[in-house]
Amino acid sequence: MKKIIAVILCATLFAAFVPCAFAADGQSFGAYKHVIIIGIDGAGRFIEKADTPEFDRIFKDGALTYTTRTETKTDSAPNWGSILTGVSYFETGLENGVSDEKTRTSESEHPTLFTFLRKADREAELASFVHWDNINRGIIETDIDVNRVDIQNDEKLTDAICEYFDAGNKPELFFVQLDDVDGAGHGKGSNSEEYFRQINITDGYLGRIYDAVEENGLMDDSLFIVVADHGHTAAGGHGGITMRESQVTLAVKGKTVEKGGKIGTEARNRDVAAIALYALGMERPAEFTSIVPSGVFSDVKGETRPFFKDPADDILGSLAWFVTLLTSVIGM
Ligand SMILES: [Zn+2]
Repeated sequence: MKKIIAVILCATLFAAFVPCAFAADGQSFGAYKHVIIIGIDGAGRFIEKADTPEFDRIFKDGALTYTTRTETKTDSAPNWGSILTGVSYFETGLENGVSDEKTRTSESEHPTLFTFLRKADREAELASFVHWDNINRGIIETDIDVNRVDIQNDEKLTDAICEYFDAGNKPELFFVQLDDVDGAGHGKGSNSEEYFRQINITDGYLGRIYDAVEENGLMDDSLFIVVADHGHTAAGGHGGITMRESQVTLAVKGKTVEKGGKIGTEARNRDVAAIALYALGMERPAEFTSIVPSGVFSDVKGETRPFFKDPADDILGSLAWFVTLLTSVIGM
């Protein structure tokens, strides 16, 4: 009997360490030194219909979907919060108002990727360049060392990002949030010419940022991700559960990314966190409900999202998603 237990124990231990022990060439786990996340606030799934030559150039051999599901509340703080923490907004409690008023520390129950990486490596360069400063103040923990830049102008923010890479910085994690598309969505709605024109302008910023990463020699070891937090209704605005608000673009480029990969329909915004940790070769925290979706990495076939770990999201999120699907049937 003891022998059998010992054999089972050994087999379990072996299985647990296999992903680390055999991370070899061509495998995605730990294959990257840099993860670069470009967030385009309010762009939803509408990059698909806009004129985006830079996005198309960058992701022509990348993995892509326009139907990633947002978190259940289609506001900025819930989604940037989940993108950075790997759990639902029911868990983080990050609503826009909360991120206005409260700060978080590295002792928070659901810390961001920045805290995970800072705790793993005190020397790592971590940076967050944002237009909406709630992210640097109310979402990313204020007691950890992160290179934080807030500039309330997307064009000038892009200038600062390019200067940052030109100065030779090599961040392990680099997060960007551009905001002008959201502004156009609020002003004119997701059916308007102005909204699509702004997506085209922001596409130019995206191209400049990508080129700065590439020209400074970082792209070979980088996982480059574009994601939106939410979309906009036809008339403009978000926070509800219509299809236009609840589906977003997710695009990933990197040396082990599935070329032309179609990211699976199971993808949710919070999965950016699992993708990032996987790329950097870090174990995922047990509380994550974030997975590496199918179609991202050529050697990862997708994972099952843990159910009943987050009952509020499982139950309320499922009911809300059912209504969301109805809004697409009735053409909202
Ligand atoms: Zn907004």
